[in-house]
Formats: sequence, structure tokens, C-alpha cells
Amino acid sequence: MTFHIITIFPESIKSYFESSILKRAQKNKKIKIKFYNPRDYTKDKHKTVDEKQFGGGPGMVMRVDVIVRAVLSVLNEIKKSTRTKVIILSPIGRQFDQKMAQKWPQKYKDIIFICGHYEGIDARLKKIIKNLKLKIENLSIGPYVLTGGELPSAIIVDAISRQIPGVLGKIESLEENRGLGIPVYTRPEIFMHKGKKYKVPKVLLSGHHKNIEEWRKKNQKS
Ligand code: SAM
Repeated sequence: MTFHIITIFPESIKSYFESSILKRAQKNKKIKIKFYNPRDYTKDKHKTVDEKQFGGGPGMVMRVDVIVRAVLSVLNEIKKSTRTKVIILSPIGRQFDQKMAQKWPQKYKDIIFICGHYEGIDARLKKIIKNLKLKIENLSIGPYVLTGGELPSAIIVDAISRQIPGVLGKIESLEENRGLGIPVYTRPEIFMHKGKKYKVPKVLLSGHHKNIEEWRKKNQKS
């Protein structure tokens, strides 16, 4: 699966993909992450990507022409199909969830993320992308407003990538299959803090697998 991230601040998230599981996933060719900077698609000497909004009002709006050129550049590199999806990151979009993260690796081959900034992106973008016969939707990562779409895109790439076969190692996959919300502990068995003892539940030290499994099921938070 290839993730194409259109952003004017690629450096703000690049390093996130250069460590741990996502770094390994790229090295093993399970995923690809590519960046496209709208500034590279400007035609003026100041590389302008934003302008004042029509009708007046505070804040700048990201220009539609430079973003469309960036999208066309992605389309030049890939084989456009029903397995291509475009996402505009937006605080009022459909909320991204784990079900999407699980389904999308089978459904899509290329996902194009468009990261907004300032007051957002010129509203004509969505129509233009639709007219290119591409699937497009506004997606939010939660009910709050961030500065830009970079963190949301990194979060979505991370959540989807974990669901691609071979991205997680064997042990990580086994952990994942156990489900979420199981309390976990490691050494020391007793941690002293401000005169209080914090102990690991006895059953986990017992070596009794059946009892441990039962304890985990009982204490799993969902
Ligand atoms: N007034 C703008 C609006 O109504 O969309 C707010 C723009 S916000 C300050 C700047 C950019 O950050 C947005 O265009 C979007 O790309 C991104 N963003 C902010 N919060 C987000 C969220 N919860 N989920 C996804 N993207 C978000």
C-alpha cells in the first residue's frame, strides 16, 4: 500500500516514519510513504500556497490550483483505479476509526492525503477531485481542531499500516490478536513510591497459564 501525503510541512512528520515498526515496514516494502509539497507546484517566485479569503475574514486559505497540481502529480505516478482514495483532513469530516483501519488495506492500494492549514482549503477542491472520478471524503481524527492535517495523516497511516499483513512482527501480531485493554506489568515485581508498595498481581507470577488467561479476560477493559 502506498500513502501519498500532500503537505506544505513534510518535515513536521517525516521523522515519525523513520523509526520503529513503520520504518521496518517500509524497508520490507510492505508500505510506501511519499511526500508532495504544494510549494513545488506553484508558478510564482514566492511559491505562494495560500491567499486571503474572498468575502473577507481572518486567516489564509490554501489555494486550490497548487493542490490540484500536486494531486495530478500523484496520479501521474500511480495507476488510478477504484482502489485509489483521496482524503481531505478536516475537523468536521467523518471520524476515522479502527474498522476503517482494518478494512482499507484490502480495499485500497493508494491513499492520497491532503493536509490543510490556516483556515483550511479552498472549498472547490472536493468537486474537482470528484470530477477526476476519484473517491474522496473529508476525514477527521477527532472532535477537536489542530493546526494542520499532518498529525492526522500520520495517525491514519500508522493505524492502517498495523493492519497490513507482515507489518507487525509475530509477537506484535499475537499481542494484537489478544485484543485491547489488557493490563500489563513488567519488572520490578514490587515498586516502592513515597512509602507505598505497588505490586504486580500474584496470578501473573504464578506460571499457571489457565489462571493467567482467566485473570486477563476478567480484567480486560473494553
Ligand atoms: N476553520 C477550518 C475548518 O473549519 O476546517 C479549520 C482549519 S484547521 C485550523 C487547519 C487544518 O488542520 C484543517 O484544514 C485540517 O486539514 C487539519 N485539522 C485540524 N483538526 C483536524 C482534525 N480533528 N482531524 C483532521 N484534520 C484536522
